[in-house]
Amino acid sequence: MEKISSFKIDHTVHEKGFYLGSVANGIFTYDLRFKKPNGGDYIPNAAIHTIEHLFATVVRNGEIKDQVVYFGPMGCRTGFYLLLNGIDKERALIRSVDALKKCLELTEIPGASEKECGNYKEHDLNEAKKEISDYLKILEKSSTI
Ligand SMILES: [Zn+2]
Repeated sequence: MEKISSFKIDHTVHEKGFYLGSVANGIFTYDLRFKKPNGGDYIPNAAIHTIEHLFATVVRNGEIKDQVVYFGPMGCRTGFYLLLNGIDKERALIRSVDALKKCLELTEIPGASEKECGNYKEHDLNEAKKEISDYLKILEKSSTI
C-alpha cells in the first residue's frame, strides 16, 4: 500500500507548532501539533477529548464555519487535524488562534451529555484549557503570528 502523507512527515524532527500537512481537492489539512512527537509527554485522554468538543464547536460556529470539513484528535495524542476547504495557512492560523482563545472562555463542555457523546464521563475542562494555553504560547513564540 502507498504511504499516506501524514506518515511522510519525519516525526523525529517534527516540533510543536502549526503546519500545513497536505492539500488535496481544495481541502487543506492542518496539523495542530501540541506536543513533540515521541517526546514522552502526550495530551491526556480526557483533555484531548474535551479539546475536541470545545474547538469543534467554536470553529463550526465562527467566521470559517462553512469551510470546516473536520476537526479531530491524532491517535498518538500529540495534536489535532483541522481540515478546511480553501483556506490558506495564514488565515487558518489566525482563525485557529482565535478559536483556541474562545475555547478558554467556555465554562461548559458542549455536547458532553450521555446522549450527545460516546464517552461523556471522560472529560477534563481544566486540563483541556491548560493544554490550549500551553499551545497558544508555542504559537505566539513562533514567528508565524
Ligand atoms: Zn465526546
